Amino acid sequence: GTPALTHGVRAEAAIDLAALRENLAALGARTDAALMAVVKADAYGHGALPCAREAVAAGVRWLGTATPEEALALRAAGIRPEQARILCWLWTPGGPWAQALRSHVDVSVSGRWALDELLAAVRETGVPGRVHLKADTGLGRNGCQPHDWPELVAAALRAQAEGLIEVVGLWSHFAAADEPGHPSVQVQLDGFASAVAHAEAQGVRPEVRHLANSPATLLLPQSHYDLVRPGLAMYGLSPVPDIGTPADFGLRPVMSLTARLALVKTVPGGHGVSYGHHYTTPGDTTLGLVPVGYADGIPRHASNTGPVQISGKWHTVAGRVAMDQFVVDLGGDTPPVGEEVLLFGSGERGEPTAEDWGRACGTLSYEIVTRIGSRVPRRYV
Ligand code: PLP
Repeated sequence: GTPALTHGVRAEAAIDLAALRENLAALGARTDAALMAVVKADAYGHGALPCAREAVAAGVRWLGTATPEEALALRAAGIRPEQARILCWLWTPGGPWAQALRSHVDVSVSGRWALDELLAAVRETGVPGRVHLKADTGLGRNGCQPHDWPELVAAALRAQAEGLIEVVGLWSHFAAADEPGHPSVQVQLDGFASAVAHAEAQGVRPEVRHLANSPATLLLPQSHYDLVRPGLAMYGLSPVPDIGTPADFGLRPVMSLTARLALVKTVPGGHGVSYGHHYTTPGDTTLGLVPVGYADGIPRHASNTGPVQISGKWHTVAGRVAMDQFVVDLGGDTPPVGEEVLLFGSGERGEPTAEDWGRACGTLSYEIVTRIGSRVPRRYV
C-alpha cells in the first residue's frame, strides 16, 4: 500500500517505483521482444527521470519520448547511451537535431523534409544519425504514406551509403489497437509487413522493427516484432478497461494522488456550493474542502462527478472544481481537518482509481495522470 501523506503537505502524488518495476517485468514476460519504456510527457505525469532510471535499472534498454527536448533532458540528467538508447519521434522543423546527434538520441523520420534537415545537422556536427523510418500504416497522423515510402527508403539508403546515417529502425503506430476487432488493426499489421518487406528488399537491415503500444503489447502478439513500446501499461493502468482491469493483466497502478482535507463545516440545506452554485445542499450537511483544483490537473469536468475517498467512505465533488480547490458533501460526517483525501490510487485501499476519474470526466486514465500538474509534488516510494 501507499504510505501516508507527508506531514504538512497539501497534496502529493506518490509514485510507486516498485510497481513500475513489476509492471515492466509483467510486460516483458508477455513477449520475446525488447521493451521500450515510453517516458514522454514527464512519464505520463509520473516523472520522466525517476521512471527512466527505474526502467534502466530494471534492464530496459530503450526509452521513448515525443520531443527531442525530452530526450535531451534525460541525457543531460545522466542517462548514458550505453545504458539506454532513446528514440524521440515528434519531428518539428528547426528542432535541436545537432544536439540530438551529439547526445546519441535516435530520431524518427517520416518524410524527406525531416531527412534533409537531419542530414544538414549530420554535416554540421560530423556525427552520423541513427534513424527510425516511420510508416503511416493507417493512423493518418505522423509517418510516411505507402506511395512515398519507396522514395524515402531510397533516400535514406543513399545517405546511409555515404555514411551520414544508419537506418536502425522501421516502425509505425496503431490507430485502434485498443479495439482488437477494429478493421484498421489488420490493415495496419499488413501495411507494416509490406513496408518492412519493401525496405528490407532494398537493403535496409533494421536493428528493430516496432509497432506495438500498450494495448497491442497486451492483446496483439503478432504486432510485437523486435520491440514493444508500452506507455500506459507500464504505469499500471489498463489501456482497455472494458476488456481487462490492470490486475487482469498483472499490472498495478503506479500513481496515487492524495490531498489533505483543509476545512470541515456544517451548512444548512439549500446552500449553494462553489462557482455558479451548480450544487445545492439537499439538507443540513457537512462540507469538506479539498485543496486541489484544475491548476493541479483536476479536470473541471469532474464538477459534480469526481469520486474521492475520505476515512474509508466515497464522496463526490460537489459543484464546480475551481482552480485550487473543490468541495465534497460529507453528508453529515465530520472527519478531522487534515484527514487524507484519496483521489485515486491502485484501488487496494478501496479508493477510486484514475480509471474511475476518467469515466467520471468523460476522458481516459491517460489524461487524468498525465495532467497532474507540476504544483503537486511527486513522492517516490
Ligand atoms: N508509441 C508512440 C509512437 C506513442 O505516441 C505512444 C503514446 O501515445 C506510445 C507508443 C505508447 O502508447 P500507450 O500509452 O498506449 O502504450
